[in-house]
Amino acid sequence: AAATTVTAAPAAFAEPLAVLGSEVEVPLVSGEKVGYAALDYAASAPALRRVWDDVAAYAPYYGSVHRGAGYLSQLSTELYEQSRQAVADFLDLREGDQVVFTRATTDSLNLLAGAVPAGTRVFAFETEHHASLLPWQQAGLAVTYLRAPRSHAEAVAALDAALAADPAGPDAPRLLCVTGASNVTGELWPIAELTGTAHRHGARVVVDAAQLAPHHRVSVRELDVDWIAFSGHKLYAPFGAGVLAGRADWLDAAEPYLAGGGASRTVARQADGSVAVEWHRGPARHEAGSPNVIGAYAIASACRALTEAGLDALREREELLIERLTEGLAAVPEVRVLSLFGADAARVGVLSFVVRGWNSSHFSAALSAEYGIGVRDGLFCAHPLVRTLLGSEDTAPSECGAPEPSLPGERSLNAIRVSFGAG
Ligand code: PLP
Repeated sequence: AAATTVTAAPAAFAEPLAVLGSEVEVPLVSGEKVGYAALDYAASAPALRRVWDDVAAYAPYYGSVHRGAGYLSQLSTELYEQSRQAVADFLDLREGDQVVFTRATTDSLNLLAGAVPAGTRVFAFETEHHASLLPWQQAGLAVTYLRAPRSHAEAVAALDAALAADPAGPDAPRLLCVTGASNVTGELWPIAELTGTAHRHGARVVVDAAQLAPHHRVSVRELDVDWIAFSGHKLYAPFGAGVLAGRADWLDAAEPYLAGGGASRTVARQADGSVAVEWHRGPARHEAGSPNVIGAYAIASACRALTEAGLDALREREELLIERLTEGLAAVPEVRVLSLFGADAARVGVLSFVVRGWNSSHFSAALSAEYGIGVRDGLFCAHPLVRTLLGSEDTAPSECGAPEPSLPGERSLNAIRVSFGAG
């Protein structure tokens, strides 16, 4: 039945975007070689062939941006700024919003954590990926961690109550950090509703879109969120570049993320022997040093490729695959799919499960060795969430990615994650 569904899909879905890595052959324990099934897109998606081709075509021409008079520098400066614009179009930013190129989502959120006004109070669900859970406390900000909600309505109500009870009140700078789609369950979060609630209380919102942006059309304007962060390597571009985009005011008022050339507008020796620095405003303020021009160019290429293929069409294709996967797993009684919001919750192409009687690490290793299927096992850098879902809060914390200590048949301390996308 599942095969019929896919055959019956509109023609456009039959031609997904070409991804690299899908033609790689891997050896199995049997000695046989099979085509690799990459099902770990949530960690890093294989680059699109088109992105790779675009980068290869540009490679002979690249040069250092912004300060060079030569042809290659000028060309690279133009392409770098065009890449910024391509990201702004992809995210449907508002007039005046900024696109800052970073190293990845983790870097983007750490940048923002250092840029919020002094005394900002942060609200985050404990279900966040560590990249969106940890930077705030690390930056010395007061953080209110909200318990894992079991429905969208519960999430909105919990935020509403926490903001209402916050002793600092609406006059203090406040920020909600929330993920668009979970990297563990793939489940979508009610971003528009949470943003409406936060704004009603005078709080701003940053969305961790590391898992959302590769799968769904995202409009910052329509969602009305203040900032958004994502990683190039999860959006079919290679490693090394990411994005923080959104409101300029807090970013322009903040100390630069890194001190150095490019961020500084003027530097002058002073009579007392120190130097006086005037920092740039705009994205350059937080992009000190030679930027990753190739990385930005690759992200822009991926944004264009996804837009041209049609994110809504890609999403429909992906939903068919999710349906096949969930139907297939539901037919295996030993499998328990992990979910916060229940069996009917909408998700992107990310799903985690445990198999009764199996150690998750052994199971994942067997998928690789015996079938050439690459999945991931562990706690997925979201320890509190996975431990809540597994009901293992009472056990000693285990390291991220550590092999599971339990023997087959014992309760699972890790989960298995399957993730895929438009390719
Ligand atoms: N946020 C989410 C939801 C993620 O899934 C990830 C990576 O897995 C990150 C943030 C961190 O992304 P990066 O490792 O690219 O900085």
